[in-house]
Amino acid sequence: MSNDTLLIPGPIVISEKVQQALGSPSCSPTVPEFVNLFQGVLKNCRKLFRAHETQGQPIVLVGSGTLGWDVAAANLVDPEDEVLVLGTGYFSDSFQDCLELYGAKVDKLEAPLGDQVPFQEVEQQLKKKQYKAITITQVDTSTGVLSNVQRIAELVHELSPSTFIIVDGVCSIGCEEFEFDKWGIDFCLSASQKAIGAAPGLSISMISQRALEHALDPSRKPRSYYASLKKWIPVMQAYEDQKPKYFATLSVQMVKSLDVALKELLADGLELRWEKHRKTSEWLKKKLTDDLGFKLVTKYPSEAAAHGLTVFYVKDPPKLISYLKQHGTVITGGIHKQIASQCVRIGHMGVSVCSEQLDHIPACYKLIAESNIH
Ligand SMILES: *Cc1c(COP(=O)(O)O)cnc(C)c1O
Repeated sequence: MSNDTLLIPGPIVISEKVQQALGSPSCSPTVPEFVNLFQGVLKNCRKLFRAHETQGQPIVLVGSGTLGWDVAAANLVDPEDEVLVLGTGYFSDSFQDCLELYGAKVDKLEAPLGDQVPFQEVEQQLKKKQYKAITITQVDTSTGVLSNVQRIAELVHELSPSTFIIVDGVCSIGCEEFEFDKWGIDFCLSASQKAIGAAPGLSISMISQRALEHALDPSRKPRSYYASLKKWIPVMQAYEDQKPKYFATLSVQMVKSLDVALKELLADGLELRWEKHRKTSEWLKKKLTDDLGFKLVTKYPSEAAAHGLTVFYVKDPPKLISYLKQHGTVITGGIHKQIASQCVRIGHMGVSVCSEQLDHIPACYKLIAESNIH
């Protein structure tokens, strides 16, 4: 491993304290020290998602962000249920695959490349058909598109209040404005290694009370073993109530490091975090387009541009990526099938953006400018 600066859209650079916590000795997940710590983590997850009022339940599982799709699909949707997917890139498509694997019937509204799905289309579709759930990828990490979750949620509440609103917040929770309670979200899934600023390995989500009751309904058969909320909700409730409970082994080190990451994140205040990401993103996007003449994949300037990463067209992506790598900075290429070989992606989330001591993003920009690669 090297000391390269990791500026990909996850995993991101983690703080020294978060990294130290990963090296702590193993302990039994039932000892009071860990029970207290995990209780604090779950309570801080409520703050992270802005889910103070909702009864609901924060859920922390060993697994990557993808596990959140399985949890949503296996617990909230039944075979033959109709689901509306808002397609803004590779990750929305993959969530659709997961839903279909569990038997859902999916309609997808595909956005123009680099843009949001037009509200009128969502409105028309919601008037046409009754959906069990709608999925919104708040930031699609393949295109850099930020969706307007608040506005879509308002539409759903108005036109189809029983529809579960499911948000993929893997690349947005911690860096984009998000309000679980105020916006009336039913399920939001995220992961430890992106804007939350911990190591990869934890799936972190929040479920509303009504979605939780649906998931626990005894008449519905569990459709996954490990991803069953019937198994996990009692465990999470117990820990949040400061009692240990076992279903499957939690990673004590990862939970300890998440504890540190959440404390660091919340110490700044979420609003300030969102603001710092917005500022850095604006600065980089403006420099790349105005000063260097690059074209972003995301429609820009517009509200569709995410603040935790920048995706832009480059004639020779491997050349730029390797130039930066030679100078100690790691960025990455595309993953969206239409543009994979034509663009690069820079992640700007977490400590690289928020720490006063680090100048990772200006330094990365300087290298791109010096490289003279277009
Ligand atoms: C990274 C990402 C995922 C997948 O997360 P993994 O931790 O790689 O499984 C899902 N959705 C979005 C929007 C992502 O950015």
